[in-house]
Amino acid sequence: MSIFGTVQVKDGKYKIKGDFHHITPNQPIRNADEGWRLVGVTNPREIIHIHTYGGEAPFFENLGKGKIYATRCDNPDCEFKGTIYLPFRIHCADCLSKNTVIDLTDVCKTTARIHSFMICERSGAFNTLEKPIKFINVEFDGVDTILMSYLQIGNPAIGDKVVPIFRTVNPTYTIQDLSWVVEGVPESDLPEGFTYG
Ligand SMILES: [Zn+2]
Repeated sequence: MSIFGTVQVKDGKYKIKGDFHHITPNQPIRNADEGWRLVGVTNPREIIHIHTYGGEAPFFENLGKGKIYATRCDNPDCEFKGTIYLPFRIHCADCLSKNTVIDLTDVCKTTARIHSFMICERSGAFNTLEKPIKFINVEFDGVDTILMSYLQIGNPAIGDKVVPIFRTVNPTYTIQDLSWVVEGVPESDLPEGFTYG
């Protein structure tokens, strides 16, 4: 029986369990112009990438808990001490020292506005978002960067307030656990699996 490949870290080592390789039958490649003679075979390959978040792990861990973590440069020698980064940056872009991790959930819930947006009628491969995709750039009071995300409910307009929603039911531990809606949407109307945190 096949089970999903899973990974744990124990005693400082990666421990992998389950199936990371699957046997998939070859398929013949034939030439339709030459009497369907055999030309070759497909060799199916599947890759499971063990992706480490490193210092960004607190950001992804907390989205599923309804929290948005950001970082701040607290280096007294930095010309731009106090810079707040969201998206989460492990190191300050100006002085390269390690930033302090901060909980920015309340700021995000009360001050988020659409800085700019774009609406995409088409998507790339493996798209799981509903089309058209309403990508928004979100700005926050006191935050020095702008967060790229997408609006699930409502129509985007520059300057409009938006509110974060979180995939707190069965989180994916990816950026897809965070999305936004316009103000005033009842929690019962949020997409399946999402809450206000
Ligand atoms: Zn700095």
